[in-house]
Amino acid sequence: MKTLATDALLQSDPFDTSQAGKSLFLESFKENALFHYKHHAFTHRLWNKLGFHPEMLVAEEDLALVPGTMVHLFKEHEFHSVPKDEIVLTLTSSGTGGQKSQQFLSRYSLDNVKKLALNIHRSLGMADSREYNYLCFTYDPQVANDLGTAFTDELLTNFTGKKEVFYAIGWNEEKQDFELNESETIKAFHRFADSGIPTRILGFPALLFEIIEKYNLSLDLGVDSWLQTGGGWKGKADKEIPKHEFRDFITKRLGIPGEHQRDLFGMVEHGIPYVDCEKGNLHIPNYARVFTRSPVDMSLLPVGEKGLLHFLCSYNYSYPAPSLLTTDYGRVGKCDCSLGGNILFLEGRAGVSKHKGCALKALELLRK
Ligand SMILES: [Zn+2]
Repeated sequence: MKTLATDALLQSDPFDTSQAGKSLFLESFKENALFHYKHHAFTHRLWNKLGFHPEMLVAEEDLALVPGTMVHLFKEHEFHSVPKDEIVLTLTSSGTGGQKSQQFLSRYSLDNVKKLALNIHRSLGMADSREYNYLCFTYDPQVANDLGTAFTDELLTNFTGKKEVFYAIGWNEEKQDFELNESETIKAFHRFADSGIPTRILGFPALLFEIIEKYNLSLDLGVDSWLQTGGGWKGKADKEIPKHEFRDFITKRLGIPGEHQRDLFGMVEHGIPYVDCEKGNLHIPNYARVFTRSPVDMSLLPVGEKGLLHFLCSYNYSYPAPSLLTTDYGRVGKCDCSLGGNILFLEGRAGVSKHKGCALKALELLRK
């Protein structure tokens, strides 16, 4: 597959905030939107009904005209814009309860998502040719390779040289279920601390927090070690610790410097990684746009105002979610770090007050 603007976009700096960079995203998005409009019947009908056509995209502000497809539709229907035999990977979310999120990737779209993830991590100073030991608080991709988090972790271990990769969640044949292998995980912590090689820890923050507390861990993994969290505090929202407090805790218990602790926000249906800069803010790359909309009438809200998150991306030619309307609240802001550009604040999920309360508490502390 050859897509001129998208190929060029994915070769460009992910945090390019220039006019030329913006134009490149616009061109790439238009190219992608035209493809889905042509090849996905539902998207075609929806956009026709709402009076939108991809040819209407001529300036940056026109991007806000693209109707969002509600995220729940992707949970209820198997949407793809290419024949099913061109799908090389189906990802599902690891969420518990309710309907699973899914994403269908063709070879071209899969290559694109790998490329953009590498570009983003490289620009944030997180890609490195030296060797690391990896401790992943997620599912072993050998047995869970269709789970979004296992896929993300396997992807993330490819941005550096690697020595040993240990997966803390394995498959228990007897119980026929996944479980956290606590004793092996504690052994891995000590083995890595003594190895003389820096460590990278990946995975759910809640699991890491629990195991440190339960085993009263206090180690020094070295100042070159990193922690990359993702997946939020799913199902453990009541135990959620504000980001900067969590950073201090990890520095104290594992010896990982605060600026080497980065959180990642991603949605299976969207696929763009929003990653913390060293100041702990989730940056929006030029491979995406984020709008916020009123939960009452879906109207566009001014930049900085809290609303339902509406994501645009252009890399995916198999899954018709170039314009995805979510049920998550957030807002767009600015960071004063050297990357520049916009950042994403997450403000909880619509209709789940407990989760919302914790996320808002975390944000209050972040603003201090
Ligand atoms: Zn920043």
